[in-house]
Amino acid sequence: MALYVQKFGGTSVGSVERIKAVAEKVKGFRDQGHQIVVVVSAMSGETNRLIEMASQINEEPTPREMDMLVSTGEQVTISLLAMALHQLGVKATSYTGAQIGIRTDSAHTRARIQQIETDELRADLDEGKVVVVAGFQGVDSEGNITTLGRGGSDTTGVALAAALKADECQIYTDVDGVYTTDPRVCAKARRLESITVEEMLEMASLGSKVLQIRAVEFAGKYNVPLRVLSSFEDGPGTLITADEEISNMEEPLISGIAFNNNEAKLTVLSTPDVPGVASRILGPISDANIEVDMIVQNVAPTGGYTDFTFTVAKNDFRQTQRILQEQVIPSLGGGEVRGDDKIAKVSLVGVGMRSHAGVASRMFRVLADEGINIRMVSTSEIKISVVIDEKFLELAVRSLHTAFGLDKADVSEEH
Ligand code: ASP
Ligand code: MG
Repeated sequence: MALYVQKFGGTSVGSVERIKAVAEKVKGFRDQGHQIVVVVSAMSGETNRLIEMASQINEEPTPREMDMLVSTGEQVTISLLAMALHQLGVKATSYTGAQIGIRTDSAHTRARIQQIETDELRADLDEGKVVVVAGFQGVDSEGNITTLGRGGSDTTGVALAAALKADECQIYTDVDGVYTTDPRVCAKARRLESITVEEMLEMASLGSKVLQIRAVEFAGKYNVPLRVLSSFEDGPGTLITADEEISNMEEPLISGIAFNNNEAKLTVLSTPDVPGVASRILGPISDANIEVDMIVQNVAPTGGYTDFTFTVAKNDFRQTQRILQEQVIPSLGGGEVRGDDKIAKVSLVGVGMRSHAGVASRMFRVLADEGINIRMVSTSEIKISVVIDEKFLELAVRSLHTAFGLDKADVSEEH
């Protein structure tokens, strides 16, 4: 007998029919004797609908009232799911975050969980009940309802699993696991059996939106085995684990390819090569709350001039360009601004590259063979990212996917 926390996302509870199907699924696990805590999101589209209504009344509603509003979405799904379980003869009780004792700080709309009370939960589980908990919400020390940020039900699930020392936190969603890359870009993308927390964080922050990043960080910190699976078909999903031994049984060099075509690149040409230049360029950018991703500065000949290139989100491109022209160039006493928003970043991710040299040179060779020019490069211990022209994005992802042995076996050969 195991204790599972099972989180079902918005699509999985998107209609009454689907809620009934979730109840059937949960019943299946109960019938095998497992203890189950279910965490649910609001029905798909519901949170957006609520936010939209608020915006028709007030452009800046108070965060406290926003939380009061959006937390209702999950209250609908917990009660309906509990009813659906009763209908199948399964004992179940639903609770809001406040009722079950998910204590958070008071940072409305992006609260952090501080503590979870588990006595009542345990008592219910020991009576054989399925406990159904509203995701995404908690309560602060004053009794105000708080929410954990968009996608926060994942974090509720992982936090409950950590507090209860559950055997696994299972995130049921509309995809059947974490893929080597986005299957919409590369048809040969393959589901991973497992991936390390570190790799998942890189993949997630680079744009594969399977899980809320905070939930993955939480799972790493508290050592919660996390599994992503499909709500709609049976399958093993993908295990996300802190344990590199488990994850790297097949010792792949790289685990996945992430990409992002939502960035733009800016270059300040011919800046004087003296102390303080980098901070004079990026200071005004960060003062404007614009987040900078990659940064590259060239080596300059002694006493010479250098170039400074960085990337920002595409929506910040125009504003960044303006700040450079109007504030930075005058403060540097010269220089020229170039910008390009037709770029894409492609990254190889894998803990395997820690112990293998030559991943970068192999990557560069593959891109060269396709005639793809590399505009920027950056590396970390488990990641190599290149910036290329946006039009080459798909070609780059597909050829790297093949070159690094990530392609799934040809479907026709499987039979
Ligand atoms: N319903 C919330 C949202 O859409 C939380 C979640 O689904 O995880 O952001
Ligand atoms: Mg979600």
